[in-house]
Amino acid sequence: MTTRTGNVFIISAASGTGKTTLVSRLVKNHADIRVSVSHTTRAPRENEQHGKHYYFVSQEKFMDLVGQGAFLEHAEVFGNYYGTSVMGVEELTRQGFDVILEIDVQGAAQIRETLPHAIGIFILPPSLAILEERLRKRETDSAEVIERRLAEAKSEIEQASAFDYVVVNDDLIATEMNLLHIIRSQLFRQPLQRATIEKVLQNS
Ligand code: 5GP
Repeated sequence: MTTRTGNVFIISAASGTGKTTLVSRLVKNHADIRVSVSHTTRAPRENEQHGKHYYFVSQEKFMDLVGQGAFLEHAEVFGNYYGTSVMGVEELTRQGFDVILEIDVQGAAQIRETLPHAIGIFILPPSLAILEERLRKRETDSAEVIERRLAEAKSEIEQASAFDYVVVNDDLIATEMNLLHIIRSQLFRQPLQRATIEKVLQNS
């Protein structure tokens, strides 16, 4: 493990775009990339584990945490609250991990204020029709929730221009690679390379 401080990446997309699958693959395939586990007041879906997918908490507990300043950002999404833990992100970046925040566009806007160096990536579906098909196939949400999510999708996509990078998820493996290129490219940003420049100059 390197001793550098990790970078923070915001990954947002309309639901059904494949964001969760992409983020899980990045984390599984690259030991130095981690995802921040959010707190939520949403009920767990089948196969979701407390502490792995989310910290599932009551609304009362969530509001306590908000009051304590425990979140870098928090937002209400589809009637439930979600928040990103300050401590969780700090701990991981301090250990040198690149950290992904898989959050909605409202949360992304807050992170731009609280963590201005975070790098924003927006994932687009190939089309709205394909997004609708993916949401229906997922079979995790009721028809009513799907309708709401589709209505939200368009307004979320309209906010894509506030992000640093935009990637279309038309092929899972290719998109995972494109995300990895963006994550890795940040290591070569000039301010992070100052020590390297000095080292080369001193050895000449
Ligand atoms: P889901 O309930 O399907 O897991 O997530 C619904 C939406 O909430 C997704 O867009 C997801 O990215 C977003 N979300 C998950 N965790 C957080 C968080 O900590 N903060 C914010 N603002 N959004 C989140």
